[in-house]
Amino acid sequence: MRIDRITMYRVCNPIKNPYTTAFGTQNAFNSIVVKMESDGLTGWGESCPGGGPAFSPYWDKGCFMLGKDFIVPAILHKEIETPQELQKIMAPIRGNEFAKAAFDVAFWDLLSRKQGISLKKAIGGTKEKAEVGYCFGVLKTFDDLIAGIDKMLKLGYPRIKLKFCPGWECDMLEAVRSVYPDTVFHIDCNSAYTLADLPMLKKLDKYNLAMIEQPLMHDDILDHAKLQKMIGTPICLDESICSLQDARQAIEIGACKYINIKYGRVGGITPSLDIHDLCGEKNIGCWLGGMGESSLGTNVVANLATLPYVNYPSDISPAEKFYVENLGTPVLLTEQYGTYTLRDNPGLDVVANEEVLAKYKQEEAVFA
Ligand SMILES: [Mg+2]
Repeated sequence: MRIDRITMYRVCNPIKNPYTTAFGTQNAFNSIVVKMESDGLTGWGESCPGGGPAFSPYWDKGCFMLGKDFIVPAILHKEIETPQELQKIMAPIRGNEFAKAAFDVAFWDLLSRKQGISLKKAIGGTKEKAEVGYCFGVLKTFDDLIAGIDKMLKLGYPRIKLKFCPGWECDMLEAVRSVYPDTVFHIDCNSAYTLADLPMLKKLDKYNLAMIEQPLMHDDILDHAKLQKMIGTPICLDESICSLQDARQAIEIGACKYINIKYGRVGGITPSLDIHDLCGEKNIGCWLGGMGESSLGTNVVANLATLPYVNYPSDISPAEKFYVENLGTPVLLTEQYGTYTLRDNPGLDVVANEEVLAKYKQEEAVFA
């Protein structure tokens, strides 16, 4: 498959309500979007590193430059037959997984459209539906949170994730558990703690959480392994896992019992599949996470969530939760909250809404 033309966009997409986590408060999600064309067909790929190096060392402007200067020149007008071949071409570029992810996804979309099969079929998805949970950021009061949880449980979400950071800790869990003693909850610390917080982290066992996501540093696995030996609640690694090697090493030293696979953080669909297979082989739980993608990206997450070893509801935010306008069309919708059923159309089955893209793009670069 010859890559005839590539268009890159850098986008700042405003959200309806401010979103607060351990990183602070944001009013928009920043992403890069890649449009890849070959032989009259188009593939789209979105990756959402954010507007600053907070979640990872990467951000939208850096990813845009990296793509323009290094990835596009390596693949434009080249014959590339498989996603593995594309990854091999990008391998000499160290790190920069979020930038690579947008190209990897656009290639998968293009390839599966060319083959006339759905992305789900192309990646080996086996589950009929993608099961998803709901995530709450830090809210103003515990009452607001309880009211929100009540609404989401009534809608049918099978589990709730709670962002957890200094100022929104055990008192919050105490309030939540007093109302919902048996509901499946897990917390996401987004690297807010160190082993110096061990007394507090040990107390978390009494809340019977499904898991604690990324309590310690974003690039640590060693301290997580120490912590896992001292607490009963399973640790789930998110930020720490940027590659198959990271996953292998974390599993080998007992740093986690779950991995939150984010296609952006690991460099695309191709490495996500490898990490998923490793989790299955090593009997480690896995599920899919999101970075505030539009429907372009949430559809990727939903497809990955149908893989056979995924054993916990994934994070796919309902389209109406965040954005004023969605970059992807059709918007990923659900008939039943807590699940997504994917249509059996070729490729990603979502394209960019070019009107919306034009409105929120900060930069555009065309290579032909
Ligand atoms: Mg997380």
